[in-house]
Amino acid sequence: MRRWNGWGDEHIDYPLPPSATPFLVEAVGAATAPEDAALADVVATVPPSRLPIHHLVSTDPLDRLLHARGQSLPDWIALRSGRIGAFPDGVAYPHTNAQVRELLEYAARHQACVIPYGGGTSVVGHINVLPGDKPTLTVDLRRMSRMLDLDTISQVATFGAGVLGPDLEAQLRAHGLTLGHFPQSFELSTLGGWIVTRSNGQQSLGYGRIEAMFAGGRLESPAGTMTLPGFPASAAGPDLREVVLGSEGRLGMLTEASVRVRPLPETEEFRAVFFPDFDSGQEAVREMMQARLPLSMLRLSTDVETETTLALAGYETLIRLLKGWLRLRGVGRKRSMLIVGLVGQEASVSLVRQQVLAVAGIYGGVDVGQLLGNQWRKGRFHTPYLRNTLWEAGYALDTLETATHWSNVSHMVASIEETLRTGLLDIGERVLVFSHLSHTYPSGSNIYTTYLYRISENGDVEETLRRWRVLKAAASKAILAAGGTITHQHGIGTDHLPYLSEEKGILGMATLNDVCKRFDPQGIMNPGKLVA
Ligand SMILES: Cc1cc2nc3c(=O)[nH]c(=O)nc-3n(C[C@H](O)[C@H](O)[C@H](O)COP(=O)(O)OP(=O)(O)OC[C@H]3O[C@@H](n4cnc5c(N)ncnc54)[C@H](O)[C@@H]3O)c2cc1C
Repeated sequence: MRRWNGWGDEHIDYPLPPSATPFLVEAVGAATAPEDAALADVVATVPPSRLPIHHLVSTDPLDRLLHARGQSLPDWIALRSGRIGAFPDGVAYPHTNAQVRELLEYAARHQACVIPYGGGTSVVGHINVLPGDKPTLTVDLRRMSRMLDLDTISQVATFGAGVLGPDLEAQLRAHGLTLGHFPQSFELSTLGGWIVTRSNGQQSLGYGRIEAMFAGGRLESPAGTMTLPGFPASAAGPDLREVVLGSEGRLGMLTEASVRVRPLPETEEFRAVFFPDFDSGQEAVREMMQARLPLSMLRLSTDVETETTLALAGYETLIRLLKGWLRLRGVGRKRSMLIVGLVGQEASVSLVRQQVLAVAGIYGGVDVGQLLGNQWRKGRFHTPYLRNTLWEAGYALDTLETATHWSNVSHMVASIEETLRTGLLDIGERVLVFSHLSHTYPSGSNIYTTYLYRISENGDVEETLRRWRVLKAAASKAILAAGGTITHQHGIGTDHLPYLSEEKGILGMATLNDVCKRFDPQGIMNPGKLVA
């Protein structure tokens, strides 16, 4: 069973290792566990539905609660406190394109808003219901999850767009194939959600971004059906796939998606290299990227993230020995950990490994082998469970991300981190902040920052939310001021909407609005997200 007010399967936990509590107390102070609202009490607050009866629509209060909020920190605060705000008036689970069309017509007839729902893992308010006079219908697409076609000669597979990550990979694995899209939310997010949020998998360096994987599909919109043919390439004017990518449910529902797949790799390897500091690691990563080394992943942590990762890893004796050994090799307290992913045939992996270690060596990098890399791989979809444990220990955790050119990466990291670190000093609260680069390009990199602060000690929900608002607004402004995109992978939703026009400009925003109007003349599709 999925947790209704947190991350993942309710039977899976991520207990804090003994070293974590003293680490957190030193970083931000001792915390008090908040009191969570009980499921039954929250279900009891769901108001009567404003939607007329329809054979495809459930108005069950539990269904409506389970589709009310996503996974952003404000969503967590709402779910844990039981102050949900607005609920969808009904939830539908269509199986077919015809049912999706029927639901769109029903919504239009009753002037209801429609929110397409994939896995509900949005971290920027994408699937939340906005309060208002109109009823809202949430359309959960997870029952449209079958493999509909597989062209093994061309390596193109077509799926119902509601397919979850593990289910998609399992269906491909049966044919010796993989898509290779592994966002950290893989367990609970869907193919359609990945496409319309321009999500990024952890190994996008090797497998490509979702934009390159998405070959074509079918969009059911209020204005009609749009079929995107999946040609290998085309010069037939602007590419309409680009209109769907990042459309965040504003245009309609992507019901089918064709994706470019590939054979499962012969071998895959993850290893860790430690650099004396983040700057030298960054130089090495840039050089690897600009040499176009065929890697599947590079993930470089700042010194604070490296220390935090080691503190939360457990294995205290092993980590102590590792630190001692690194010190002897010239890598001290400012150490910066790089996880390198290599994928392909044995012979090419071996060759690329040599090239990577040669570049790393120039910048003082020390290879520690595959143990930590394998640990990272094993735990990569488990790490989000830590957020449950931290919350229950009294700590709120959130992440934000951007991308910028290499020439600006150090400035950007410093600017975001300083803004967050000092963001609550006026109320005497410290914020633990750390970053990594995990999606790197020849011209630049994303920057992914995690921050953690104490939940308001006296259970004041508004105060916990206010702290988030202060930090999020300050960091978003710092990102724009330092010349970064407002989002590299999470999308716009509601939380980034105030900042989008600075990036797109007046004409750009007008174009986006016009496109939404063309597909959705009545403005019923996911209003208030992406564009106002
Ligand atoms: C713990 C955690 C880790 C994460 N890690 C990553 C990561 O590594 N990389 C990354 O890019 N993101 C990550 N995310 C963010 C999130 O998982 C992605 O944005 C993901 O793509 C959302 O997919 P979903 O299926 O859950 O979509 P939802 O959250 O259900 O919906 C997101 C948006 O897409 C729309 N939508 C969904 N399906 C369809 C459809 N079929 N047709 C039309 N519109 C649709 C919705 O209306 C909404 O606007 C993470 C989130 C969490 C909570």
